[in-house]
Amino acid sequence: MDTSATEQSPKVTLLADYQQPAYLVDEALLQFDLDSAKTRVVSTLTMRKNPQGPEADCILDGEALTLVSLKLDGKKLEGSQFQRTTSQLLIPNLPDKFELEIITEIEPDQNTALEGLYYSGSILCTQCEAEGFRRITYYPDRPDVMSVFTVTIVADREKWPVMLSNGNMEDQGVFDDGRHWVRWHDPHPKPSYLFALVAGDLHVQQDSFTTQSGREVALRIYVDPENKHKCDHALTSLKQAMKWDEDTYGREYDLDVFMIVAVNDFNMGAMENKGLNIFNAACVLATPETATDDDFYTIQSIVAHEYFHNWSGNRVTCRDWFQLSLKEGFTVMRDQSFSADLNSAAVQRIDDVNGLRSMQFAEDAGPMAHPVRPDSYIEISNFYTVTIYEKGAEVVRMINTLVGDEEFRKGTDLYFDRHDGQAVTTDDFVKAIEDANAVDLSQFKRWYEQAGTPELTIDTNYDPIEHRFTLTVSQACPATPGQTTKQPFHIPLAVGLLDKSGTSLDMQLEGEAEPHHGDTRILSVTEASQTFEFINVSSEPLASVLRGFSAPVKLNYDLSNHQLAFLMVNDKDSFNRWDAGQKLIINILLELVADIQQNNQLVLSSLLVNQFERILTDKKLDPALVAKMLTLPTENYLAAQMTTPDVDAIHQAREFLKRNIAVSLKGLFNQTYEKLSIRKAYDFNADDMAMRSLKNVCLSYLVASGDPMQLQRCLRQMKQADNMTELLAGLRLMVDQSGLERENALRSFYEQWKQDRQVVDKWLAVQAASTLPDTLIRVKGLMKHEAFSIKNPNNVRALIGMFCRNNPVNFHAKDGSGYRFLVEQILVLDKLNPQVAARMLGALNSWRRYDEQRQQLMKQALESIAEQQDLSADVYEIVTKYLAAE
Ligand SMILES: [Zn+2]
Repeated sequence: MDTSATEQSPKVTLLADYQQPAYLVDEALLQFDLDSAKTRVVSTLTMRKNPQGPEADCILDGEALTLVSLKLDGKKLEGSQFQRTTSQLLIPNLPDKFELEIITEIEPDQNTALEGLYYSGSILCTQCEAEGFRRITYYPDRPDVMSVFTVTIVADREKWPVMLSNGNMEDQGVFDDGRHWVRWHDPHPKPSYLFALVAGDLHVQQDSFTTQSGREVALRIYVDPENKHKCDHALTSLKQAMKWDEDTYGREYDLDVFMIVAVNDFNMGAMENKGLNIFNAACVLATPETATDDDFYTIQSIVAHEYFHNWSGNRVTCRDWFQLSLKEGFTVMRDQSFSADLNSAAVQRIDDVNGLRSMQFAEDAGPMAHPVRPDSYIEISNFYTVTIYEKGAEVVRMINTLVGDEEFRKGTDLYFDRHDGQAVTTDDFVKAIEDANAVDLSQFKRWYEQAGTPELTIDTNYDPIEHRFTLTVSQACPATPGQTTKQPFHIPLAVGLLDKSGTSLDMQLEGEAEPHHGDTRILSVTEASQTFEFINVSSEPLASVLRGFSAPVKLNYDLSNHQLAFLMVNDKDSFNRWDAGQKLIINILLELVADIQQNNQLVLSSLLVNQFERILTDKKLDPALVAKMLTLPTENYLAAQMTTPDVDAIHQAREFLKRNIAVSLKGLFNQTYEKLSIRKAYDFNADDMAMRSLKNVCLSYLVASGDPMQLQRCLRQMKQADNMTELLAGLRLMVDQSGLERENALRSFYEQWKQDRQVVDKWLAVQAASTLPDTLIRVKGLMKHEAFSIKNPNNVRALIGMFCRNNPVNFHAKDGSGYRFLVEQILVLDKLNPQVAARMLGALNSWRRYDEQRQQLMKQALESIAEQQDLSADVYEIVTKYLAAE
C-alpha cells in the first residue's frame, strides 16, 4: 500500500530557502504502548493551515517508522490519499482545520543511533534534538511548529515502574493485566525537539525549591538504583542555578516539577527537554571518591546550562536550525557567568578562552569553518560545534560588553517579554537589545554572518614631548570556505595603560574633557584600521590590550619577552597576566623547537624561571590562578602556533622545558606541595579546589624532574587520597612512566573501581593519553577489555576520542598507524552511531597543515572513508568538506 522512494544523495539545506510552515499543530495527544520489542505510538494532532504560511501540501517528517494507520477527522485514509518516502509523509487536499490520527510502530531495541526512542541499558529514553522526533512518529519536525503536548504512557508495571514525560503529571492508574498508565500535560507550547519520554526502574532523589514568587517546585533526579548516593551535587547545583537565574535575569521556573534523568548511553552531554532534562550520567553523577574537581565543576555548569535553557531555548526557541546559536550561544554565555559568579572568575575566563582558542580557532581555520549563524548544512547534527556554542557565547558577551550590564539586562528582559512562546532568530535577539537601549548593532551583526577568526594588529607610539600615546588597531579576517572577503567587525577592545612601576595610568582620548579613571576602558573598533590618541600621558606606557579577552580574535602585538615577563607579574587584569605568561612560554618553546630542528644545544631561559619563582612566592595571588599560570600550553595548542607543526619536536621541547623548570625550582615546588598537603575532608568549594589544583601542578613538576623519589611521592599521594582529584592526578603522572609501578597502579585502580562506569571511563582515558610509544597497541588491547563497548559513546570518547584528539605525538605517528586506526573505528561507528562517528573525524580537521608525508597519509585516510558506499550523511558531509577545501 505504501510507495517507498529510494534514498537520495545527501541534500543541502539552505537558510535562504526558509519558509514558514504550511500547517501548524495546536495540540498533540500522544499515547505510547511500551513493549520490549515494539512500541506503538498513537498520535492525534489538532492541525490548521498557517495563515502566514505558503500554499503547499501538508508534509510530515518520519524516519524508520512502520505506519499502521492514518485517519483524517476520524476517517481512514487509503494509500492513494497520501504519499510516503523514506523520510516524509505527504497529505494533499486538506481542509483549513482538521484532526489527524497517526498510528506507528517503532523498535527501540534496534536503535543504536541513540536518536528518537532507544534503550540505555534497561531504561527506555528519548533524544529528539535536532531531528529525533521523526523517529517516533510522523510530525512536522521543525522548531517553528510549537504545540501543547499531552502524553499518555502505558506499560508493564514491574518492568517500567517509573514513566515520565514533559510538564506536570495529571493522572495515573492501573489496569487489571499488570500494566499501568500515566498522563503528563505540558501547558507551554513547544517544538517537537523538546519532547521527552523516560521509562524504567529508577530511583528518585528529591528536593524542592521555592521560587521568587513563592511557588514550591519539586526537584527530582532519577538514576539507576546503584547511583542513588551520587545525586547531591547535581541537586545543589540545580538550586544554585534556579536562584541565580532569578537574581541575574529575573527568570522564574514555570512548572510544578523539574526532573533530571541520568542515562549511561547518550550522544551529547545533556538535553534540556521541557521539565525533563536527560543527562549523560557522566555529566550529573558525582561523589568526592568517584569524581574530580573538574567533574564537579563541569556538572555544576551543565546542570545550570540545561536549566537556563528553560527560558533561553524553550520559552523562546529557534525559528530554524540555522539559529541554533540563538539558544546555545546565549545559554553558554549565561552558564559561564554563573560559574564565574560561583567560583574563581579569573580561572573561569582562562578556561573558556583556552577552550575557544584550542578548539574553535582550529575549526575557524579549517575546512568546516562556518559562521555563528551558518547558511547551509547537510546534516544539522554536524553543526553542534564549538563555533555555534563557544564563539556564539563570545558574541553575546561582546554585546554585553558594548552596551553595559544594566543595558544588557534591559535588552534581555525585552527579548523574553517580546518573544515568549515564539520561535525566533538571532536578528530578533539583537533587535531586542537595540530597541531596549536605542543602540545600533547593525555592523556588529557581521559576527553572526562572517566565519573566521579576525586578526588584530596593534601598533603603538609614544611622543615624550607632547605626552601623547597613539594606539593603532588594524583588523583583517582570513578567507573561509565560501567567504573570500570580509567586512570589518565591530570589536570591543578592552585596554589599560601601565607605567614602568606597573601602576595604571589615566586614559583620556583626544577630544575628551575628562580622563577615564579606572584600570580598563573599552574602545569600540569598527574600521579596518583605526587610531586612538591618548593625551596627557606623563610617561611612556605599556599597553595591556584585549583585557579579559574582550573579543574572540587573534592578537598580533609585538612585545618582547621582557615586556611579557613584566605583564605576567604586573598586569591589573588576571586574564592578561596569565595570557602574557602563556605568550612568553610559547615564544620560548618555539625557539626550543627551532633549536631541535637545527640540532642545536637546548638552553633554559632564566627569565621564565625567575617569573615562575615570583608567582609561586606571591602570597596575594589566588592559588587557582597560580596553578593556571604554571601550566604549560598543550602540544595541540603549540602545534596551532606553527605554520607546519612538528609534533615530535614540540613534544621534545615541552618535555625539556618542564623538566628543567622542575629541576631549577625543585625546592620551591617541594615546599609548596608539602604546605598544601594538609589532610582535611573533601569539600567542593573554590578555595579547596584551588589548593588541590596547585598541589597537583607542583606534583607534576616534581615527577618531571626525573628524581625517582618523586615517583614514590606520587604513589603515596594515590595511596592516601580520599578523593578522585588527587588519585587521578597521580595516575595521570604514572601512565607516562614505563615500568612495573605503572602496571601495578593501573591494575589496582581498575580492581578498586571496575563497578563504576564513570571511573572506568577515566581509567580508559588516562591510558589513551599516555605519551609512551606503545600506547596505540594498548588502546587496541583495551578495546577488547570487558570495560569497553563500542556502542557506548562515553567509552568511545574516553578511549578512541582521547587517543586521536589529545595524544598528538602518538596519533600523528610517522608510520600512519594512528590514522589507520581512526579510519577503522569510524567505519565501524558509522554503521552504529553516525553522530559519534562524525565527531571522531574532527581529529583530521587540520590535515593540510602538516608536513608532506603526514598530509599524504591523512589524505589517504580520508579518501578511504569517502570511497565507502552508504556513508551516513553525518560522515559524508565532513569527509567531503575536508577533502574539498584548499
Ligand atoms: Zn545547550
